[in-house]
Amino acid sequence: MPDDQRTLAPSPLQATLESIVGPANVRTDAASLELAGADIWSHGTDLPALVVAPATLEELASSVAAISAAGLPIAPRGAGMSYTGGYVPGAPNTVSLDMSRMNAILAIKPEDMVVTVQAGCTWAALNAALAPLGLRTPFWGPMSGLLSTIGGGLSQLNAMFGAGHYGTSSESVVALTMVLADGSILRTGGEHPFYRHYGPDLAGLFCGDCGVFGIKAEITLRLMRAPAHEGYASFAFPTGEAMLRALAEVARAGIACESCAFDPGLTRVRMKRASLAGDVKTLGAVAARQKSWVAGALSALQIVRGGRSFIPDDGYPLHLVFEGRSAAGVREDVAAAERIALAEGGIKIENTIAKVIRAMPFPPLNSMLGPAGERWAPIHGHVALSKAPAMFAEIQSVFAGLAGRFEAAGISTGYLFTHLATNAITIEPVFYWPEARFAVHEAGMEAAHLARLPVLAANPAATALVREARALVLDIFTKFGCTHYQIGRTYPYRESRDAASWAFLEATKATLDPGGLLNPGVLGLAPRTR
Ligand SMILES: Cc1cc2nc3c(=O)[nH]c(=O)nc-3n(C[C@H](O)[C@H](O)[C@H](O)COP(=O)(O)OP(=O)(O)OC[C@H]3O[C@@H](n4cnc5c(N)ncnc54)[C@H](O)[C@@H]3O)c2cc1C
Repeated sequence: MPDDQRTLAPSPLQATLESIVGPANVRTDAASLELAGADIWSHGTDLPALVVAPATLEELASSVAAISAAGLPIAPRGAGMSYTGGYVPGAPNTVSLDMSRMNAILAIKPEDMVVTVQAGCTWAALNAALAPLGLRTPFWGPMSGLLSTIGGGLSQLNAMFGAGHYGTSSESVVALTMVLADGSILRTGGEHPFYRHYGPDLAGLFCGDCGVFGIKAEITLRLMRAPAHEGYASFAFPTGEAMLRALAEVARAGIACESCAFDPGLTRVRMKRASLAGDVKTLGAVAARQKSWVAGALSALQIVRGGRSFIPDDGYPLHLVFEGRSAAGVREDVAAAERIALAEGGIKIENTIAKVIRAMPFPPLNSMLGPAGERWAPIHGHVALSKAPAMFAEIQSVFAGLAGRFEAAGISTGYLFTHLATNAITIEPVFYWPEARFAVHEAGMEAAHLARLPVLAANPAATALVREARALVLDIFTKFGCTHYQIGRTYPYRESRDAASWAFLEATKATLDPGGLLNPGVLGLAPRTR
């Protein structure tokens, strides 16, 4: 990145922002600009001119009004745990809006079953506050939830905890308080947030918008009582296609609240990364999650006995979590899943990983790099249940065609699979390749883990090959009519819209952000020239 870009911060704006949020919360140092200038996958076109971190709705609205009056692009950033170019600058002199200080839980109302948070609150913090009350949100976080924010999750949408029953993060939204590009405030829902629907669904317009329509400032989510009973089951399948047929049937049956499946490649990576210290922490967490100390001790013993040898080397393991109001209901769901799995040629294996996923939902984000310090980047498609096996077969065949080039470049691949309510399967191919890490890795991973990994040199040739392979996978996603979370600047959203939808989206953008300042280029909305 050219050094001269760091000197472009317009000082009158900087002084105004400092008067709004305090001088310590306006940053122009190289490290802060570098951190905001790249996500986990790539750098933006430019470094940001400065980073501003408001702490309240009023500070946010005044900051956005000032930046907008100066005519500069604005890039909201939650925890920066994404990899589709969503928050990186797409134009010179971008101001990066750091939402991390807006991390408060504003109100928990068990009597009305809603919780209101500032958009920079993490999923881990929200769950820690709700757990003692026996409450949670229906969708309750992505695996990155230790750091990733609820505002980021609603802007990109999320898979994982609770998604098997309740779908994605936005399906829990009751109301949003938005700050628009000119600094004005838009509130969705009723006068006091307790129920989402009152006329057209304005909240829905901002969910999955990747920040192009406005900045989420405050978010009210629906609460539910945390289910009293849990169950776990894991199965291994001889092929990915058989596993996907079973997962589709589990989804149709609506029996598992979470699922997580891997291919043999990803299983190997996960096993390499796990450490003895990690095992001890994991055992403690799994034991603590069980209803009695006897059940806890038995679970820990089961893990120790099973070690890591319980997954066949070439199998496709599927891990399922179940929850419900009665133990008998959960047992019935587990039994139904077992019948489905066996009918597709699955075998029952130790349910250790399913238990660990629930016991430690938000682990440190050390999987942002591979076990030998390699870079990591996933790409995903949500596909109709019936089409998942065929789509997986096509991706595999593309990777088989690239195998020689992958091997020469040191690139390895794996897959993660999950389901979304009763409607979709997510197939997520992931790439590992030798390449230098970014500031976001240093900031997001545990220092002790990072210190054990080698520092790799820049390797643009390997990255170019990963880019080429990602493009081929995107073509397959398009062919199968996939939808995507985290659209950012990666997924071909615009190309998949009919003319009327696109005209509506452009008109909405022109109304809410007439200067085209918010995340220009994201979702395929072209930056306006000023
Ligand atoms: C190790 C790891 C595990 C992951 N696991 C999962 C998983 O299980 N499920 C899953 O779905 N994803 C997962 N992710 C992807 C990612 O973490 C999620 O998409 C997460 O929701 C991003 O949140 P964030 O706060 O980091 O958002 P950011 O990356 O900071 O931003 C994402 C987008 O939202 C916009 N944005 C952020 N905050 C606001 C706001 N307040 N108002 C308007 N726009 C805003 C940004 O401009 C950007 O376009 C994982 C990532 C990692 C690194």
